[in-house]
Amino acid sequence: MPLPINDLKRHIAPLKDLLSSCSTAVIESGHYVLGPGVTQFETEFAAYCGVKHCIGVANGTDALELALKSVSVEPGTAVGVVANAAMYGTSAVLACSASPVFIDVEENSANMSLEHLTEVLQKNSLKAIIITHLYGRLANVKSIIALCKAQGVAVVEDCAQAHGARLEGKAAGSFGDAAAFSFYPTKNLGALGDGGAVVTNNEEAAQRARQLRQYGWTAKYTNTFRGGRNSRLDEIQAKMLSKMLPLLDGWNARRREIANIYSSKINNPKIQTPPISGEEYVGHLYVIHSQEREALKEHLLKYEILTDIHYPIPDHHQPCHAGAYDDLRLPVTEKLAKTALTLPCFPELTDEEAMQVVEACNQF
Ligand SMILES: *Cc1c(COP(=O)(O)O)cnc(C)c1O
Repeated sequence: MPLPINDLKRHIAPLKDLLSSCSTAVIESGHYVLGPGVTQFETEFAAYCGVKHCIGVANGTDALELALKSVSVEPGTAVGVVANAAMYGTSAVLACSASPVFIDVEENSANMSLEHLTEVLQKNSLKAIIITHLYGRLANVKSIIALCKAQGVAVVEDCAQAHGARLEGKAAGSFGDAAAFSFYPTKNLGALGDGGAVVTNNEEAAQRARQLRQYGWTAKYTNTFRGGRNSRLDEIQAKMLSKMLPLLDGWNARRREIANIYSSKINNPKIQTPPISGEEYVGHLYVIHSQEREALKEHLLKYEILTDIHYPIPDHHQPCHAGAYDDLRLPVTEKLAKTALTLPCFPELTDEEAMQVVEACNQF
């Protein structure tokens, strides 16, 4: 069996009894959507992130959309977003009937470039930006948020790859005006179905997100706001997430350990590895860069090691835009999309398997 980049069967197998007891409890409870299990998980996840409010929603893309709407992104406004995160942020901006304004990234972190954001803000009036903590690595939050604050631009963090990443003890999701999480099964904290959350310290934004996830109701059958959705979290997912949350820091530590084995031991001038990392990185994806990506991919396959590309087509080059951004150049985003290659990294990967990956890379 070739080594996959992620193995959910191995991840979930030891939790089978724990998770089965959750579904049995929900089946017997009579509450199936937005019940006491959701409220409990919201309280626990808010505490984990160190914020006041958590609103459970149906998935991470909805969480981004509702977070944007909760910080007053209206139709026709402009929102800054990176173009190297698989259209997640861009899709949410478009769902708000707002326009994406693409910001280039830093070469070493693949996260939003403060320098390019500064330039873009001189020419564009942005209502908000989405900071994506890509691959599980915190973006340059402090400087970016200071810049946005000074210019009255709201900040939404996309934490779908960064549950539990920390800077000076502060967790991803606690820096911006609001933040979005996904609990899709492959994420660092993943349910056995779709799920997501908006977190925020802002009372008003929390209330708005809570209303928007259920049709824009301010009271039952009273639709006060436009832009409301049906985006609810169900009880089975919430209960399972509550059981898995205490395990998250341990899983993240193991992901980081594997990443640091790779970064310290892969030694090949044809392969650029990310730096050795501390708690600012939670190893969601371990992405290397090579000018000879296709050959490396084939080489690793011969060693029974599977890889993937996160992500091959930058947002501004996606066919859905019908050429609208043909003249836009994002040099670093475009360069990284041509060289990125993801190696296996998940908490259950053994040291022996990690060393097989290292040796295969070193023999390329
Ligand atoms: C997975 C992901 C999302 C979207 O989450 P879904 O639950 O699949 O809608 C958003 N942003 C990033 C960075 C992601 O990795």
